[in-house]
Amino acid sequence: MGKLQFEFDNSYAKLPERFYTRIIPTKVKKPGLVIINEPLANSLALNPDTLGSEMGAEILAGNHVPDGAEPLAMAYAGHQFGGFVPQLGDGRAILLGEIIDCYGARQDIHLKGAGRTPYSRGGDGRAPLGPVLREYIVSSFMDLLSIPTTRSLAVVTTGEEVFRENVLPGAILTRVAESHLRIGTFEYFAVRRDLEALKILTMFAIERHFPGTVGDSNPAKTLLECVLKRQSALVAKWMSVGFVHGVMNTDNTTISGETIDYGPCAFIDTYQSDKVFSSIDHAGRYAFKNQPDVLQWNLTQLAQCLLPLIDERTDSAVSIAREIISRFPEIFAEDLGREFAKKLGLSCDPAAALRIALELLKLMSDHSADFTLTFRYLADAVLGDETTGLFEQQFGQPAAVSEWLTKWLSLVTLENDSLVTAKKKLLAANPAIVARNHLVEEVIRAAEENGDFSRFHHLMAELAEPFTERPDQSKYARPPSPAEEVTMTFCGT
Ligand code: AMP
Ligand code: MG
Repeated sequence: MGKLQFEFDNSYAKLPERFYTRIIPTKVKKPGLVIINEPLANSLALNPDTLGSEMGAEILAGNHVPDGAEPLAMAYAGHQFGGFVPQLGDGRAILLGEIIDCYGARQDIHLKGAGRTPYSRGGDGRAPLGPVLREYIVSSFMDLLSIPTTRSLAVVTTGEEVFRENVLPGAILTRVAESHLRIGTFEYFAVRRDLEALKILTMFAIERHFPGTVGDSNPAKTLLECVLKRQSALVAKWMSVGFVHGVMNTDNTTISGETIDYGPCAFIDTYQSDKVFSSIDHAGRYAFKNQPDVLQWNLTQLAQCLLPLIDERTDSAVSIAREIISRFPEIFAEDLGREFAKKLGLSCDPAAALRIALELLKLMSDHSADFTLTFRYLADAVLGDETTGLFEQQFGQPAAVSEWLTKWLSLVTLENDSLVTAKKKLLAANPAIVARNHLVEEVIRAAEENGDFSRFHHLMAELAEPFTERPDQSKYARPPSPAEEVTMTFCGT
């Protein structure tokens, strides 16, 4: 087993001191390794075996700071449920540094749950095991679905207790991200009227995430357009798999277009457009169907921050920013249409695909159909064989969906060389399983209450193959029974 060498190449730590606070993670009692994400470790040129060694666990727990790390907590602000908080920041997370991965991309290595920082605001800087496992499971699954996301490199337990409503085991997640820049990072400097910092941040973000646009005459305008496109594509992908993020505050909206913050998130079982899981989202602000509107609202906050950089003349800056933001609904509809076209095996224009998808979603909601299974069973329905029944069953009785089915079948027939090809496309576009909420909760309970991680590892192994057919009544494929259903999740901070 070789020495554990992180090839750090830090850029954020070279920004002016007011962007962050340098801070060393607080040591924990007894690091215990739960899991290493081996493919991710390899892509970062980190040997998974060495990372999983005792020394590795010491590093992942924050007890030992590796050579080349320049640990710091990032400053940011944010709108939380619409209310502005001028100072948030990494209250329980510490950025160790950055590594250039084997694809040439710069990646943040971030310890979540690593102890208090000047941004902790009364919090303990720690993370309970449950939410850490949730983030590991769901972020890994999103990555398997090719949905942009921060990733999870490792989970270690701390051997310490975390005090919430209950006493819970503590853990630390190593989060890997193309960056941890958020809309809230821009808001932090905008509210302080720190134009110089905003300019530095804008150039930093562009060089890191949109290098193809370096040299554009109006970088702030370009950045706004680029973030809008990335985030629009991201939220369209979420919605194509029935994902409810649950806490789309501006501090949880990345500049890179990666999903971040797996607090109260969940995948929908029985489809309803206004589904909410978060225990604190009483008004349904972040309900499934509201996600595009919320994103547009968040992007408007970014636009607001960038105004003085877009044009010194406020009138002109506002009209440029307005024009960009006003294009969002159209861009999003196209992204969503493209995602649902894939799910329906269609190659027609996105607007037409979206129309027929929305008709299906309406029927699904009227008849309490399961989101994942309904789309998955389209692959059976397409050949019109005896298994069509599986699709129809989702709607109670065949008559409920027969008109839609006929219309869809005629489109699929028209747009594909053969129905066998269509079936293949459908199977590749619609996962057979998702990280259903009740499965995630079951894993968390076993780990929290009994220190039993076998269910966690089992679920991870199942989720590793989202598109592989499962027997119908497989625990991992079927929806929860009413008794198993978990309708509320807690963000676990
Ligand atoms: P989140 O709900 O994870 O998006 O976090 C919102 C803000 O609360 C961020 O500034 C976090 O750093 C901070 N925060 C969340 N949990 C804790 C904690 N246990 N200790 C300190 N700060 C926290
Ligand atoms: Mg957050």
